[in-house]
Amino acid sequence: MGEEHVVWQLLIRDVPDFPRPGIVFKDITPLLADSAGLRLCVDELAAPFEDRSIDLVAAPEARGFVIGAMVADRLDAGFVPLRKSGKLPRETLHADYELEYGAERLEMHTDAVANQARVLIVDDVLATGGTAAASARLVTLGGGDLVGFSFVLELEFLGGRRQLGEAHIAAAITVQ
Ligand code: AMP
Repeated sequence: MGEEHVVWQLLIRDVPDFPRPGIVFKDITPLLADSAGLRLCVDELAAPFEDRSIDLVAAPEARGFVIGAMVADRLDAGFVPLRKSGKLPRETLHADYELEYGAERLEMHTDAVANQARVLIVDDVLATGGTAAASARLVTLGGGDLVGFSFVLELEFLGGRRQLGEAHIAAAITVQ
């Protein structure tokens, strides 16, 4: 089948009640497994930032790594991993954020986005915005210039973009 016929949005599955009752999990594994669909998805995430001189894509583990590294390649940018606590080997900055149950921490190497590097943050899903807001704090703390965010899917009803300030926010799919 030609690439133009792949409706990549249909390759994301709804999984009800995962990881907890009441949550509809957006499963991107069928999209990751489809080379044409994945290429089209990454094209869409990169497109709004093609003329924005992105130096680095920063993304939280783990699904953000897969999509983010591909967007970085598409934009001729480098990649910065934002990791859970204790995973990075050198000096780190950290940002804490709230989850529905308890707190979480993301870390980034102190020198990862130094000297006003122009940074795009990428992730699969924007839900309440805690993860993306913590990612943005790390970029700013590290001396980077936060240009914007690009998500595969935004759960608009959770209002996550209200936490993300003035930077440009792109989402390929919006769920209302
Ligand atoms: P949040 O911090 O609430 O915006 O949640 C975003 C992070 O949690 C992203 O890294 C997503 O991978 C994950 N996430 C949150 N909600 C979902 C969902 N319904 N389906 C898949 N992943 C989700």
